[in-house]
Amino acid sequence: MTKVPEAKDAYIGRFAPSPSGPLHFGSLVAAVASYLDARSHQGSWLLRIDDLDPARESSTAPAEIVDQLLQHGLVWDGDILFQSSRLANYQQARKQLTADNRLYPCTCSRKDTPRIYAGHCLTNSLQDLSQPHAIRFHIKEPKLEIHDRLLGPIKWRQQLDMGDFIVLRKDGLNAYQLAVVVDDIYQGITDVLRGADLIHSTPLQLSLFKALNGTPPRYCHVPVVLAADGRKLSKQAFAETVSSKSAVDNIRNALDFLGQKHTKGHSVNELLESATRSWNVQAVPPLRGISEKT
Ligand SMILES: [Zn+2]
Repeated sequence: MTKVPEAKDAYIGRFAPSPSGPLHFGSLVAAVASYLDARSHQGSWLLRIDDLDPARESSTAPAEIVDQLLQHGLVWDGDILFQSSRLANYQQARKQLTADNRLYPCTCSRKDTPRIYAGHCLTNSLQDLSQPHAIRFHIKEPKLEIHDRLLGPIKWRQQLDMGDFIVLRKDGLNAYQLAVVVDDIYQGITDVLRGADLIHSTPLQLSLFKALNGTPPRYCHVPVVLAADGRKLSKQAFAETVSSKSAVDNIRNALDFLGQKHTKGHSVNELLESATRSWNVQAVPPLRGISEKT
């Protein structure tokens, strides 16, 4: 199932918003960063819609996100991949992981589960499924590490910084981590540039890449945009939608946030072309406002 990039050094990046609402400034920054990094490597930039949780989604958001990206000059390559069309692939991956003894049913309630799950149900058998249960993935590695392109080496230790995590929820919905990794492998993603709020997902995804015999991408976690009260901008926190009417200013502001030069250009295309030529990931300012785990 692994799809190998065509050229040895090919770069394939992606932007994968969840359609809980239209893009706000924080998600625009993540899109601009991954777009510029891909384009400056003459790479592909793919769009994937993370539509796995209908209760949290807005039916109009996918079309709004697509329109916002186009109005901001952020044009992706190929077809949009909707995760809701990939359920059979996630099921196939769970089959493989089950055969390899990496999954177990977990009957713990969400409120009793600490953020780092210590494997309470690890000895439960997949044969005994009489109670409502989620399915968890077991991380075998005592520690995992990456060399983040911006943050340098980061290490995570089993049970301290990372624990077994859910791949299929009690309500039958696919959880985020497995779907991301199955699709990253399928699309041959070589580089992930995303907000540092997702950094705690990285070791979980690394363990899944290994278990599914996929090649993990290079990672680069960029700072997240914080609201005036210090919290991360999010759709849940009613962050303001970026208006396509002020697309040029929005791109300028995103480039400022990312520490990038933008001396030329009065249209989004001119700005993005000039920013692609001068893109320097090392100029992105250091992490702000999230707790670092090393
Ligand atoms: Zn449990």
